[in-house]
Parts: sequence; structure tokens; C-alpha cells
Amino acid sequence: MFVGVIIVAGGRGLRLGSSQPKQLLDLGGRTMLQRSVAAFDVHPRVSEIVVVLPADLEPAGASLIGPTARPCVCVAGGARRQDSVRAGFEQLSAEVDLVLIHDAARPFVDGAVIDRVIDAAREWGAAVPAMAARDTVKRVADDSGIVTATIPRGEVWLAQTPQGFGRGVLAAAMAGSAGDDVTDEAMLVEQSGGTVHVVEGDARNVKITTAADLSAARLAFASAPRVGTGYDLHRLVEGRALVLAGVTVPFERGPLGHSDGDVLCHALTDAVLGAACAGDIGQHFSNVDPRWKDAPGLDLLRRAVAIVREQGWTVSSADVTVILERPRLAPHLDEIRRRLAEVLGVEVDAVGAKGKTNEGVDAVGRGEAIAAHAVAVLTGGAR
Ligand code: MG
Repeated sequence: MFVGVIIVAGGRGLRLGSSQPKQLLDLGGRTMLQRSVAAFDVHPRVSEIVVVLPADLEPAGASLIGPTARPCVCVAGGARRQDSVRAGFEQLSAEVDLVLIHDAARPFVDGAVIDRVIDAAREWGAAVPAMAARDTVKRVADDSGIVTATIPRGEVWLAQTPQGFGRGVLAAAMAGSAGDDVTDEAMLVEQSGGTVHVVEGDARNVKITTAADLSAARLAFASAPRVGTGYDLHRLVEGRALVLAGVTVPFERGPLGHSDGDVLCHALTDAVLGAACAGDIGQHFSNVDPRWKDAPGLDLLRRAVAIVREQGWTVSSADVTVILERPRLAPHLDEIRRRLAEVLGVEVDAVGAKGKTNEGVDAVGRGEAIAAHAVAVLTGGAR
């Protein structure tokens, strides 16, 4: 069995009130179109994909979709839905014997629904996923807004996509169509006297139509938070200032280093970069590069935040621990948190800062070094 998928992405999405075509709107780092294509591209039973785009977008189709594992071609759609489906159908290779037709505006489609439709279309020739109506269903006169009938709920099912058809069944339905506008392909089969079976749809497989649908979809596709950790240690020597998050702490010694030796900022810079899998401080700000000689740690942290922002991430919180035998850091922690919050772009209460000693143990305990641990939490997602 060869399953070919036609993804209809010809709409303009005027009800969303965006100047951009609906299928190109961002949903958590990928467009609606990319997410719909990906749902089929990862499905093991799908052989090939045809994407039907508005004529003005079709030339850029390959770059709008990006790389795919399965063969994927783009074609310009027509004026009506059935014209677009026909254009897509003509691009299917000869081996395809089962055709799925899907709306790009349903990016939540999952493998289980696709499987159910493939199985039923294979058995019956034509199948649609649908949801039983849960509310009482009224027939309403179009212009008056007056209820004219209550339709028995058990008879009403709300059709979704993908809809599946044996190749011959779909070809015959398209050939036999009287040319009336249809809103789905099952209608073509119904009009040509064929039988369409219903399989269970999925409540999550919504069609993104309104601005509220779009907001909900963006929330659903927002990626899970990412956590990064960082650690740094510097020797303490005479003649150097002890700087933590840009705050100079009065003390007779300070950290030795190519930069200002701000261990707290260095650890947190690694945590921020690490959470985004964006390398580490040594890779971005090499300690042999003269550009970073005496560079303030807060500057490096600011640059790291810019690097992860470029990838679509936002820092949402951070926590740091500085390990130092002397002096006590408590009087400086509020100012440290304030400066870090400003550079990270978060509220002060999203930044924790603690100081502790090493109980006299090891080099840090003997006062020969200062160390810091940091954790950063990022939200958003790679673009
Ligand atoms: Mg360092």
C-alpha cells in the first residue's frame, strides 16, 4: 500500500486578522504548515506528500516547508477547494493507491487518527474522522437567527481531516462532481453516490480558525522549560578586586583571571548557554582572546543572554550559589540579585543568590579560591 497525502494550505485565514497567510503563522517555533507536514512526514505508513499552496507562495514552497524525510512536492492551488485537491491529486505518483487529504490548519493531527483513517479507507474506500456532537444541535434560519428545528444529536458528527480514500474512489468522485462547491472531499464521494465511513476523530485535532484558536495553539506548542547548570572557580590573589555580578565586595584579595574573574557571572553565563545547548563561555569568550581581557562578567552574561534570545529563548529564572570562606556576602546579595535580574531581563524575585563557606575544607576553605554554581531556566524554543 502506498499512502499519498495532499495537504491543502490554500487559505488566507482572514478570520485570524493577520496580514500573513494563516499557514505561515508561528506556533511555538515552527509554522502551522510545517507542523501539519511534519505530522505526516514522521508517520511510518505515509509514502509521499503533496502540499497545495496559494499560487503566490508556491514558488517558495520548498523553503517554507523545509527539509522532509519523505518526498514532498508543492503545487499551486485553484479557486475552489476541489480545484486545489485536484491539482494536488495530479502530482501523486502512480504507485499511490490510498490518498489522505488534510487541512494545513489542523496542525494537531496525530498518528493514531491517521492510522484509523488509513485502516478504514483501506477497508471501505472512503473514511473521515469525526467527533460526535456533544451539545444539543439546533437548525437556525440563516438570516433571522430563529431556531427552526432541533436535530437529534446522535445523527450529528463533526468532520475533521485527514479524510482517506482509495485512489479510484476519489478519482471517480472528482470526475463525477457536478461542480458544486464542497467543503470536504467526503462530500464529493457522497454526491457521486459513494459511501463514506466515520472513524473516531480527536478532540485535539481542531481547525485553527479564530484568534482564540491561534492563542490556544501557541500555548499548546510552547516548548517545555529548559534548565542549564554552570560552575566556575578562580584563585584569589592580592591586588585584584573581588567583583560578583558587577558588585565590588570590599576584600584584600580578588580572583585571578583573564577577565574580571566574576565567578558568579561566569557560572551563570554557562548555565544560560547550557540550557539552550549553545556552547559554553570558553567557546564564545575565549580566555586567550584580547577582546575579553578584563571583560566585565556582567557583559559576558549580557552577551550570552543575547545569543540564546537569538534562538528564541527567554530566561525565566536563575539561581546562584557563591562559595567563599571570607568575607560574608549577605550584605551584598540584594544588589547582586538586582543586577543579575536587569541583565537577564527578569523580575528580581526570579533570581536567587546565596553565599556559603566551604567549612575550611580544601582550597576554597583555606581562602585560596572562590567558586560559584548557577542554574538558569529558559522558556520559548528554538526557531
Ligand atoms: Mg571564570
